[in-house]
Amino acid sequence: MGGVNVLCMNAGDDESSYANNSNIQKKVIQNSRIFLEETMKKSGTIRFPECFKMVDMGCSSGTNTLLVVTNIVNIVHKICHERKLKAPEIQVYLNDLPDNDFNTIFKMVPQFCSKLENGEGDKSSKCFISGVPGSFYTRLLPSKSIHFVHSSYSLHWLSQVPEKLGNYNKGNIYISKASPPGVYEAYFDQYKADFSKFLQLRSEEVSPNGQMVLTFAGRSNADPTSNDCCCKWELLAKSLQDMSAKGFIHDDEIDSLNLPLYTPCVNEVKDIVHYEGSFTIDHLETHEVNWDLSNDEVESASDKNNSGKIVAKAVRAVVEPMLANHFRTGNSFMDKLFERLILMESLCNI
Ligand code: SAH
Repeated sequence: MGGVNVLCMNAGDDESSYANNSNIQKKVIQNSRIFLEETMKKSGTIRFPECFKMVDMGCSSGTNTLLVVTNIVNIVHKICHERKLKAPEIQVYLNDLPDNDFNTIFKMVPQFCSKLENGEGDKSSKCFISGVPGSFYTRLLPSKSIHFVHSSYSLHWLSQVPEKLGNYNKGNIYISKASPPGVYEAYFDQYKADFSKFLQLRSEEVSPNGQMVLTFAGRSNADPTSNDCCCKWELLAKSLQDMSAKGFIHDDEIDSLNLPLYTPCVNEVKDIVHYEGSFTIDHLETHEVNWDLSNDEVESASDKNNSGKIVAKAVRAVVEPMLANHFRTGNSFMDKLFERLILMESLCNI
């Protein structure tokens, strides 16, 4: 598979869309809400500028996109209220790759902005929203123009599949217990180069005293083959092998498939930020979030028996366009593939 342009979530709002299968990402946004507020309160400046400019990198499309904006606008209002300040105008840049379903977001924007403007009393706010299509591994915004950079659940996507992998990681689609030596190193080198580049580019775009809050998927264990890191992708690889056994795809297509993602551990992140040198870390937190949301009290009560299905649908919403682009038979076998994954996930949870 080629560069990042094949990387996009399932568009629209049907059953397999990202918009309808992004509860885990929503949970991450909810978990980071308090942290976001604490960070914005700690900003070096007491007052907001007349126009507060923020960017959400990897915004995707669906209710999560505007949930992030709502959270940040509400926090700005809360701070202004506490400090008896006039709320600033807010310029929001929504960034994602060009293939992202920006149309779906843009259709929601006018109503969203007019609701904000008609908010009550000091909650009324002028908010201007624009789309910025492009990779966050390139320069996207003018120098020193941004006060706040936000990114949720996106930075574990790499700019490309590590070139060094070639067809070396046969039968696997990510780092796996069965991967040959060198696969982890190839992935980590790509991550180090990408994340460093991201930090350097953002440091050019943020204004003095600018801030950044990033959340992304990571692994709790330094071992890159630990279950919390690669189990999901091993199950997807096995499901693909079943599709090959049934003749829907070929083994050599699985051999050449590697996902362009990497889930770092805490020390890897700290080391890269330190070594790259543009930013310092004020605060770093980790949270455990299961893909079936089984550690969420509200969700688990209703969806306990549905775990395999929830996980498979969440995985499908994220990887289907990528798989359809890679395999010669396109998306003709996707229903069968993800039925298989539901079964695998369910067996895993017994
Ligand atoms: N922030 C959203 C979306 C998370 S899904 C949420 O919390 O629900 C990850 C998003 O990152 C996808 O929409 C994907 O297209 C985007 N993404 C991945 N790599 C990217 C890159 N290099 N530049 C910009 N966006 C990217």
